[in-house]
Amino acid sequence: MKRVCAWCRKDLGSVESENHSADTVSHGICSDCSSMLRPQFGMSIDRYIDTLPVPVLATEVYNGRIIVKAANEPACKAVGKELREVVQHLAGNVFECDHARLPEGCGRTMHCSGCAIRRSVMTTFETGEPQGMVPATLSRFAPDAPTVVAMTITTVKIGDLVVLRVDRMGPEGPA
Ligand SMILES: [Zn+2]
Repeated sequence: MKRVCAWCRKDLGSVESENHSADTVSHGICSDCSSMLRPQFGMSIDRYIDTLPVPVLATEVYNGRIIVKAANEPACKAVGKELREVVQHLAGNVFECDHARLPEGCGRTMHCSGCAIRRSVMTTFETGEPQGMVPATLSRFAPDAPTVVAMTITTVKIGDLVVLRVDRMGPEGPA
């Protein structure tokens, strides 16, 4: 089984596994990224993600809800929102998830258990394990009918926060 760094995709060699073929990829964090992603790195999370050229959001899990605490400019651009419309908002509202508009809200609807964004953030939050290049389908709200956006995301834990990087987003198409 191959092992790659979830954050920089550096090859970390292979690991023995009886249950997986040699082509299966598992994710870890390389030593460079691990020291850079350490909370005591000395830079606030906002400043750190601002240095990244791709959409990155820092999220907090609170009461089973995923709340965005910080986002860089590419992330705001990707969702077409101002920073103040992103920070302190539920992830589903930030991404304009169609299900997040239900009365229960993002994280509590019957659709939420199938959400790959949620699953990836929660797994990383609970286990500390990075989730690399996870395919996710976002059902995005639109006035007539929701549209579907294919995404690929990576999540890593920094301190108590889960940092979510959008590796790929779109194109947006009919459901
Ligand atoms: Zn790395």
